[in-house]
Amino acid sequence: MYYSEELVEEVRLKNDIVDVISGYIKLQKKGSSYFGLCPFHNEKTPSFSVSRQKQMYYCFGCGAGGNVFTFVMEYENYSFIEALKFLAERVGTELPEIEYSREAKEKADLKSRLLEVNKAAAAYFYAQLKQESGQAAYQYLIGRSLSQEIITQFGLGFSNKYSDDLYRYLKSKGYSDELIIKAGLASADERYGVHDKFWNRVMFPIMDINSKVIGFGGRVMGEGMPKYLNSPETPIFDKSRNLYGFHRARTTRKPYLLICEGYMDVIALHQAGFTNAVASLGTALTMGHARLISQRGFREVFLTYDSDDAGTKAAIRAVPILKDTGISAKIIRMEPYKDPDEFIKNMGAEAFEARIGDARNGFMFSLEVLEREFDLNSPEGKTSFLKEAARKLTEFDEEIERSNYIEAVAKAYQVNKDELRKLVNKVAIEAGQARPVNRPKVTLKQERVKEDGNLKSQKILLTWLGEDEHIFQQIRKYITPLDFTKELYRTVAEILYEQYQNGKVNPAQIMNHFTDEEEHREVAGLFHTKIREIKTPAEQEKALKETILRVKRFSIEEATRQLSPTDMVGLQKLMNAKHELQDLEKLHISVN
Ligand SMILES: [Zn+2]
Repeated sequence: MYYSEELVEEVRLKNDIVDVISGYIKLQKKGSSYFGLCPFHNEKTPSFSVSRQKQMYYCFGCGAGGNVFTFVMEYENYSFIEALKFLAERVGTELPEIEYSREAKEKADLKSRLLEVNKAAAAYFYAQLKQESGQAAYQYLIGRSLSQEIITQFGLGFSNKYSDDLYRYLKSKGYSDELIIKAGLASADERYGVHDKFWNRVMFPIMDINSKVIGFGGRVMGEGMPKYLNSPETPIFDKSRNLYGFHRARTTRKPYLLICEGYMDVIALHQAGFTNAVASLGTALTMGHARLISQRGFREVFLTYDSDDAGTKAAIRAVPILKDTGISAKIIRMEPYKDPDEFIKNMGAEAFEARIGDARNGFMFSLEVLEREFDLNSPEGKTSFLKEAARKLTEFDEEIERSNYIEAVAKAYQVNKDELRKLVNKVAIEAGQARPVNRPKVTLKQERVKEDGNLKSQKILLTWLGEDEHIFQQIRKYITPLDFTKELYRTVAEILYEQYQNGKVNPAQIMNHFTDEEEHREVAGLFHTKIREIKTPAEQEKALKETILRVKRFSIEEATRQLSPTDMVGLQKLMNAKHELQDLEKLHISVN
């Protein structure tokens, strides 16, 4: 942070959140809050709430949330500093001019420095595309039917033929070797010294959902290898949690996403008006992707992968992953073309729209693919196929869903549905005894559920503490911020405790301590969890007590796990914690 906490807080206080957000979207007063249509996801009934009292916003649909800074950052795609300047100007507060000294740059945390160097690299690549030396690359993009407008929208660029050009440019801007290498923009070896990772490539900056450049993809010009090269994973670039194009697709008016394989597919689709297209980044679709999609309020996706075998298999594998997260998936075929990019070029947007209309149910499609391995005209072939289909049908956990699919399969393959049901049951029993293949998966899931459960308790307790000082006063002796094992929760707890000691809780101010939008979102969630509506006071007290005990027990478990046998101070602390737990167990805690 380059500005003092006091100054940041002053700017925040002067910018009333209801006034600021009203400038962007229409809000209506309902009870103590204001409601409107969420600008961060597609919806028809308002679930976006703004509280004047808390000076926060929160969307009950997609979980977007934060204070006035977060809103401006998300809406205008500003960095924290940019949002601060914007809001200071809005109310006529003067910010001191700050020289960005080298030391100041070094001090800012690693993540924001990585974002900064990536942004500088993206601007450099973009400028290169407009140079004489970038002409071939520019012509290549135009040759692939991209408009100047879409090239700008996606920030496409060019890395030229010199192998240390970017490196020298970034050095001239004051970035250190260490940072440039950490960002994956260059690597160092004894023979060649420091050299650029990307050269002679068309560059696709990869942005996170908040439009921050987190990495790059590069397509080689000409015949070099590899054809496509991606940035390595870095502290800000996690391929399994980011989708290419999502920063633009997130505001689509369509209720579903199109997921494809490549950068060019996404760009071609956006240019053709399908602004809801995204791509996974050279990896198979993961749970992380699925969660990202569902967090943003999407419940349906259309997979539009390449027509080859690999693409078909990848699409089929993605279906259950999406389903686990509550997202239904359909599959769009691109035959006779290779991928959406080629399809759009040859057939146009209307034909693509028609393919969306003809999309196939993911499960039925996987059977169609499976079918190719069997000769359905021979009785043996058909029997083997049905057995395999039955095995797949056993993977539906829910009775009713399984039953519906049994009917659909029976109809599609003209077999008696009761016969098929018998077969499915038989296969299920056999699998239960002979092939415990799903066991490890379940165990892993259970472990995750346990961990999630403990974190959820910590979250609920924080929500309670933020709402009710009476609870805080009763448990402050027994529960300290250190009992919160998740770093973000611990930090929030520390500030909350401090605020109570100084008088009053100020949720929006807590956010000033975080500069990352995803963190703001999470903190806002802490102050908007609904915990009371269903319970009588007695039930509430019971639930609260259970939550507190769970938090304390888990904290002790964690401390025990991390304790080294020679750590006497740690041991003493652990003993104290156990006494506190005993006291807590006896304590009656009342809610207001
Ligand atoms: Zn929303």
